[in-house]
Amino acid sequence: MKTNKIKIVVLISIIICLASMMIYILVSAPILHMNGEANMTIEVFTPYEELGVEAKVLGHDIRSKVQIKGNVDTNKVGEYQVQYIVSNNGITSSLTRFIKVVDRTNPEITLIGEEEVVLCPLEEYVEEGYQAIDNYDGDITSNVTVKESKDQFLYSVFDRSGNKGEKRRTFRYEDQTPPTITLRGEANLTLYVGSTYEEKGVDVSDNCDDVSSRVEMTGSVDTNTAGTYTLTYTVTDLSGNQSSVVRTVTIKKRPTVIVPKNSTIYLTFDDGPSYLTPQILDILKEENVKATFFVVNHSSSYDQYIKRAYEEGHAIGIHSYTHNYKQIYASEEAYFNDLNLIRNKIYHITGSYTNLVRFPGGSSNTVSRFNPGIMTRLANKLTNQGYVYFDWNVSSGDAGEVTTATGVYQNVIGGLGTYHSYIVLMHDAGGKTYTVNALRDIIRTAKAKGYKFDKLSETSYPAHHRIAN
Ligand SMILES: [Zn+2]
Repeated sequence: MKTNKIKIVVLISIIICLASMMIYILVSAPILHMNGEANMTIEVFTPYEELGVEAKVLGHDIRSKVQIKGNVDTNKVGEYQVQYIVSNNGITSSLTRFIKVVDRTNPEITLIGEEEVVLCPLEEYVEEGYQAIDNYDGDITSNVTVKESKDQFLYSVFDRSGNKGEKRRTFRYEDQTPPTITLRGEANLTLYVGSTYEEKGVDVSDNCDDVSSRVEMTGSVDTNTAGTYTLTYTVTDLSGNQSSVVRTVTIKKRPTVIVPKNSTIYLTFDDGPSYLTPQILDILKEENVKATFFVVNHSSSYDQYIKRAYEEGHAIGIHSYTHNYKQIYASEEAYFNDLNLIRNKIYHITGSYTNLVRFPGGSSNTVSRFNPGIMTRLANKLTNQGYVYFDWNVSSGDAGEVTTATGVYQNVIGGLGTYHSYIVLMHDAGGKTYTVNALRDIIRTAKAKGYKFDKLSETSYPAHHRIAN
């Protein structure tokens, strides 16, 4: 009996002991509680914020004892774990957080060129290029697929995480731009009755279409009948856009020389204007004499003298733009290029086109012989085109051989006789002060002898020389 009693006491003691141990274990085990979600998903390249855990034993905070294991690389897509471990009196508790780093950002497609493209009606679009960039995969341009249709191209691309990028390029087909049309040759042309009109046509181009064979010309020129003829050139592109230009051709009767009643002197000044021109204009004004200036291209500061001469009633004629013999007599084309330059310059200064011409060196020059026959061809062509060229029958000698006022005076006065028209060659180029100094005496002496003075016109006697080339 006694033995049984002892056994029961021991057993109860063991049970009490074990129960005490279990209670001890239960109350002294650390309790962990996770802050934030246990399963987190975060976008790649965004920072991971460690929220940690709460850790307590018997109401005491033991957070400082918590160990954190595991690393989250937010620059790399993947699955990560973070473990929180804490021990108290040999008893360990732990929690695990699962973190997914993901790429959910769509790649972006950038188009080179316009997104809304305007094309000609029949034009095929030629790809200008594109680029696809993903925040995680980088340049994925080579993965782009292009779905082509008439009205649009659809560009799409997927990144490795299956995110899609898309862009559209749309096409509108229209042509609202009219063709361009420009005249070949002159817009305003004057020819004499009986000469030949050469149709030079027009140059055309269009942004969309080949319009070279789509030019229509209306009007015609009858070179046997004096009058003003209008030629209209119209070009129409395939979309119906139109452009036109007009050429005016004047056919006029060849002027016949009107012989003046009194013996008349036509003073002509070549190679100006220069700083001496105003002095010449002053003298002419004071003596009430009209003259003719065959001008060349000088600095624009002298333009005012051409304007003054014109406004004071003198005639302005074409001499040359460059006065460079080698250049202007190299070909007919070169001559007319030079002539048109100075002709247009005179027009801009005076507002009026002149058809009076004097050849550099005169029509009898031999300096052009490097190009045989050029003077003959030029004289014919000029005349056919409505110009009148003038030579001279009195030379003042101021081009070189004479360098004194007395010499100039004697040459001019000595050259006068009883003929109806005297065209006097003089120069108002810089340096020719002797010409300026002789001018007033020439005028007064000639007037005293009964001569009249006048400016040249297309009906004046032209004093043509014998062409020598
Ligand atoms: Zn000259």
